[in-house]
Amino acid sequence: MRGLIQDRQLMISSLLVHAAEYHRESRIASVMADGTLCRHSYPELAERTAQLAHALTRLGVKPADRIATLAWNHHRHLELYYAIAGIGAVVHTINPRLFAEQIGYIVNHAKDRWLCVDPGLLPIVEGLIDEIADTVSGIVVLSDAVPETPLTARTSVLAYEELIAPEPRSFDWPEFDETTACGLCYTSGTTGRPKGSLYSHRSTLLHAWSIALPDLTSLRAVDVVLPIVPMFHVNAWGLPYAAPMVGASLAMPGPLLDGASLHRLIGEENVTFVAGVPTVWLGLLEHLRATGGTLPAGMRGLVGGSALPQMLVEAFEQEFGTTLQHGWGMTEMSPVGAYNAPKPETGDMSAEARYAHSRKQGRPPFGVKMKIVDSQGRGLPRDGETFGELCVRGPWVTSRYFGDEDGQEAFAEDGWFRTGDVTTIDESGYMHIVDRSKDVIKSGGEWISSIELENIAVGHPAVREAAVIPASHPKWDERPLLIILPADPGAVSAQDLLDFFEGKVAKWMIPDDVVFVDDMPHTATGKIMKRALRERFGRHFADPG
Ligand code: AMP
Repeated sequence: MRGLIQDRQLMISSLLVHAAEYHRESRIASVMADGTLCRHSYPELAERTAQLAHALTRLGVKPADRIATLAWNHHRHLELYYAIAGIGAVVHTINPRLFAEQIGYIVNHAKDRWLCVDPGLLPIVEGLIDEIADTVSGIVVLSDAVPETPLTARTSVLAYEELIAPEPRSFDWPEFDETTACGLCYTSGTTGRPKGSLYSHRSTLLHAWSIALPDLTSLRAVDVVLPIVPMFHVNAWGLPYAAPMVGASLAMPGPLLDGASLHRLIGEENVTFVAGVPTVWLGLLEHLRATGGTLPAGMRGLVGGSALPQMLVEAFEQEFGTTLQHGWGMTEMSPVGAYNAPKPETGDMSAEARYAHSRKQGRPPFGVKMKIVDSQGRGLPRDGETFGELCVRGPWVTSRYFGDEDGQEAFAEDGWFRTGDVTTIDESGYMHIVDRSKDVIKSGGEWISSIELENIAVGHPAVREAAVIPASHPKWDERPLLIILPADPGAVSAQDLLDFFEGKVAKWMIPDDVVFVDDMPHTATGKIMKRALRERFGRHFADPG
């Protein structure tokens, strides 16, 4: 017997329609490339999105067509999210920090029909246009008028504002099957070719509903949300959908992600909730300390993408009264898969225990199931000690990569996705990442977590960034090697740093040596590029010098 409930499809367009109808006072503030701020209300945004939907239809965009964006966080990018998905096409967000060769590969692989590009990112497309000319019909520059660019001689180049200006300000959004694809995002491809996760209207709405819950982002209409995490990196963790769902305001930072620019935006918009990777929080912390700046009372933050150092949690809480919460996710998970909020049994911890607990990535929201398995795929106990590969499943977890045979082995036949993260899970269900399976250090048959050692190293005041890699060792197979970008070159010795680990981990886990670098390589999503460090220093103990 079927329930007698209206069978309405979960549509992305309905989020903006709702926000425009019930949250007229909320605002979307965007920092433009020149640093100026521009503000819109949800009704204004909905009108502009309707104009864009008409314009895309006029350009011949059809359901299922992929339309790519190369853009920072601002209102035009938000309009593209809603207009493209709203007409049944697929918004393909591309990370401009990828190598040009990877961007070319991704555009061709996705068969993108149009590229919508920030003026400042046009040089990337100029260098690629020959390679992508077979699939791309033209470029929409996210600006008032078409700027000077050699692209005009090669393809059709339109200006966003000129494109939408003549169009009507309302659109009759179609309702179609909620499992229709709406968004495409490629993983940055630390191994092999980049691989695409293809999200649906249904998965995106369920994910947004889930992250808005009190233990996760706890978003409300009175909040002002600053997604520092870029809209090209897994939909800015779902915030561009969750904010209109609850009617929250948005503060979009554009391309200016340094501590000073972020601090200014936080103050001007009275931001209450910030989401970003540890590196940007670190930049903000350095700026606040250098300038004696403060943060709005009650502001809170979500930190993920890589492990949240305990030092950041302590510094923000003690110096600025800002609570940081740790979360975990992946491109393949839309992205949120876990968050570290208190439970009755963790509520009355001492401050010290609470800070240590904040290093755990957290427990899954309703909808996500988790288990850890050994190399044979056998389930492992939830004792907080035993670690194995984390497998997940749920209604916003990717079921297979888009159109590719590469990498599909991560999707087991029983419906579990193998994340490649090595973790523990404790009795209360909190997951703790020990490492990526390829970064863990296998020393004499024991495993050492590179993340745990890095977390300790960044707590040393003389350290700006730290990475620990497995270096081949003639006796132990692998030993940890600590790589340091010092805050002040020459101010700290290798021995000082190694002594800093005493008493914090077992003796045999302490790195065998330290290498100082004057630049730390990062991936396109801001994580330290361990692969490059392994290539450079992986034989440090095997071939000294
Ligand atoms: P991406 O798909 O680029 O977002 O990368 C996902 C990967 O980032 C995960 O599989 C983890 O290895 C890593 N990651 C994400 N969040 C965290 C976190 N809070 N702590 C440690 N690693 C994380």
